[in-house]
Amino acid sequence: MIKSIEELVETVESAAVVPANVWQALLNVTDSHIVAYIADRARMVAQAHFGLGVYVRALIEISSCCRNNCLYCGLRSSNRLAQRYRLGKEHIIECCRAAAELGFNTFVLQGGEDPLQSDEWLAYVVATIKSEFPEKAVTLSVGERSAIGYAMLRAAGADRYLLRHETADSWHYSQLHPKSMSIDNRQNCLAELKKLGFQVGSGMMVGSPGQTTEHLVKDLMFLDELKPQMIGLGPFIPAAGTPFANEHPGSVDRTLLIISLLRLRFPAALIPVTTAIATLCANGTERAILAGANVVMPNMTPLEYREKYTIYNNKKGSGSESAQQLELLARKLDSIGYFIDFSRGDCWEVKCENGKLGS
Ligand code: SAM
Ligand code: SF4
Repeated sequence: MIKSIEELVETVESAAVVPANVWQALLNVTDSHIVAYIADRARMVAQAHFGLGVYVRALIEISSCCRNNCLYCGLRSSNRLAQRYRLGKEHIIECCRAAAELGFNTFVLQGGEDPLQSDEWLAYVVATIKSEFPEKAVTLSVGERSAIGYAMLRAAGADRYLLRHETADSWHYSQLHPKSMSIDNRQNCLAELKKLGFQVGSGMMVGSPGQTTEHLVKDLMFLDELKPQMIGLGPFIPAAGTPFANEHPGSVDRTLLIISLLRLRFPAALIPVTTAIATLCANGTERAILAGANVVMPNMTPLEYREKYTIYNNKKGSGSESAQQLELLARKLDSIGYFIDFSRGDCWEVKCENGKLGS
């Protein structure tokens, strides 16, 4: 039986399990009126949870060195065009101080899997940040580590961890990563992070090479099981010097549609406007907020290094994507009736089924 769009959306909002064919039908929506209907509903859900405030996090890109060789990423170890740097402890703390001065209450430390930024070293950095800023949240996004490593980082005071699952399909995973990396390890890392009590973020690129709608359905079903507190997704963008340098970028429209679907499914989740959206679309930030996103992560990386963190071509790090230019972001948000919310914006519970809480 063919379901109406209202019935499909209702299933996403309230079914214990969303059947694959419902996700599939919604992912294939292209009619602009239906897309607008889904976005409107998602926006209402987001506003019911967060009002008109948009959380901000200061993003500090701590290293462009990576031992991994993900085929899509400009920082992959074999990319000879990549420019490498790593920030030292003092430099990172200075960035946190500058971010605190600007009013940020979350610092996000992101980087490649840099062997010189070991678990012990990073735990020391996190502990130092938390001793100076005990009230502020520290989010890490530094890839796959051992259970012991994650435990060390959690014990040092890290509050949140972003680790996209990238794709929930094993074949697709093997097309995006070298043999040395495995989907099982990625997913085990996510389970471990949850077990340790991190607020966990996951997600995927939209339009990565080889991705089909069936893969995206699997992604949505995987997220439904994982129940992450944060969900990051952005369009794939080709990166110079990688095997995918000549591939087409992913679709911003499709990314925004998926943001809306995720908002409907996870009303309380933290869903950022990713830099990849803003890179491909001049008013991408506004469009993503109006589609149900509720977090922006302005860049706080020291200017001399910012251009070296080129995970993909033409990555935006200036204008309203820069932490130093918050007033530009404030103006953008104001133009659509929103404002910057400087509070910590934690999320401990993800309501993803009718009344049932994930943890
Ligand atoms: N190394 C850590 C990791 O992989 O989880 C964190 C840094 S990594 C650069 C952060 C995210 O960037 C990845 O999870 C991936 O989804 C995204 N990314 C990498 N290359 C990309 C590309 N070419 N286009 C869009 N997003 C990309
Ligand atoms: Fe390294 Fe992350 Fe890029 Fe993979 S996506 S190459 S792990 S920085």
